[in-house]
Amino acid sequence: MTPEDLLVEADRCVKCGLCLTVCPTYRLLASEADSPRGRISLIQALAKNEIDLHSHVEQHLDRCLNCRACESACPSGVKYGSLLDASRSAITTEHRKKPLLKRLLRQLSHAQKLNFWIRLYHITRRTGLLALAKILPFSRLRQLLTMADQLPVNPADRTGFYASKIPTGKKVQLFTGCIGSKLDDNLIKSAIHILTSLGYAVDIPSDSQCCGALHRHNGFIEEAEQQCDAIRKQTTKSGAQKLITLATACHLELVEQQASRLPLASISDFLLQLADKEMPELAPLPIKAALHRPCSSRDNSDWQILNKIPQLELVELAENELCCGAAGSYILTQPELSNQLGELKLSHLKTSGAKILITTNTGCAMQFRQQIKQAGLAIEVCHPIELIYQQWNRAATNPATR
Ligand code: SF4
Ligand code: SF4
Repeated sequence: MTPEDLLVEADRCVKCGLCLTVCPTYRLLASEADSPRGRISLIQALAKNEIDLHSHVEQHLDRCLNCRACESACPSGVKYGSLLDASRSAITTEHRKKPLLKRLLRQLSHAQKLNFWIRLYHITRRTGLLALAKILPFSRLRQLLTMADQLPVNPADRTGFYASKIPTGKKVQLFTGCIGSKLDDNLIKSAIHILTSLGYAVDIPSDSQCCGALHRHNGFIEEAEQQCDAIRKQTTKSGAQKLITLATACHLELVEQQASRLPLASISDFLLQLADKEMPELAPLPIKAALHRPCSSRDNSDWQILNKIPQLELVELAENELCCGAAGSYILTQPELSNQLGELKLSHLKTSGAKILITTNTGCAMQFRQQIKQAGLAIEVCHPIELIYQQWNRAATNPATR
């Protein structure tokens, strides 16, 4: 978006304020500058050089989760997400802001570099140094280390080609993401098993890429574009029929940036489109599960696919329209606000009485796991496809459970 386009888009905001009540940061801070309308005014003033980029202005923009709840509520159709991305990009480029975050994202979004940091993290943890670091008065460092606790000691490498268990000639490419490829191993294994059993060969390229969302939403557009270009090249040469995504934030980014040359489908959507006769029987699961809907996906396919599990009591998590506070790197950059939103979600989860929390996004799952662990609760967090595979497996290994 050029500076002129940015101003044209921002001018479409008529300052009606209808977006204020849906904005999580306005709800927490009750300040106009932390509302969508207030931030649009700041973006306009910055673009017209009416104000300088002093720390307060930057803080109000940084506090935005980019959850885009305001976009859905806006009767004028203001593209708030694009405005914020363009404004953050202008700030990081012109003022060379956030060099540390830029470096951190570069490490996190590169599989080999991430492996190195995970190994180093776990070695350092054994020395007790990390426990010491966690008591230092640096909330962002503390949050980073706390979140890193969720990373596996030996991250599996699932890249490669998986032949179909039925010879059909069909092939899909699986998009596993950057952090997701290390953190969501059970999900990736479940997806591979389901797809190959249904007659699809699965390809996870060895040079798998990050979708670039973390970079784009922090203002590092150039890096984000590089990631998208690499995915375009990869999907052009893949020879697969579809690109299947697991995490909704990656899916949204790939759609919005037209980063795939293959038709895209989330794994829940893909499975729903198969004829019922192609799906095997699932064992009943008489348990209550709460479905969290990430900001990056409000569609109903996860609900529908979960409804295929007999006896599963599925409920909506209260206030599902409110961001959980993970919001990409927000969980690291704004730990206090992120925690407040996470605690609110946890209180709804406790009230629901659910034993399983289901979400389709890696960051949201990390947020819930962290909150659940801190509260000492025994609630499992999983992706719908992990649950589908679990019940498929149970039905297959113990037919009496069908
Ligand atoms: S962003 Fe939309 S809803 Fe919010 S104040 Fe502007 S016009 Fe109104
Ligand atoms: S994107 Fe979310 S946090 Fe940011 S202004 Fe809109 S509603 Fe508020």
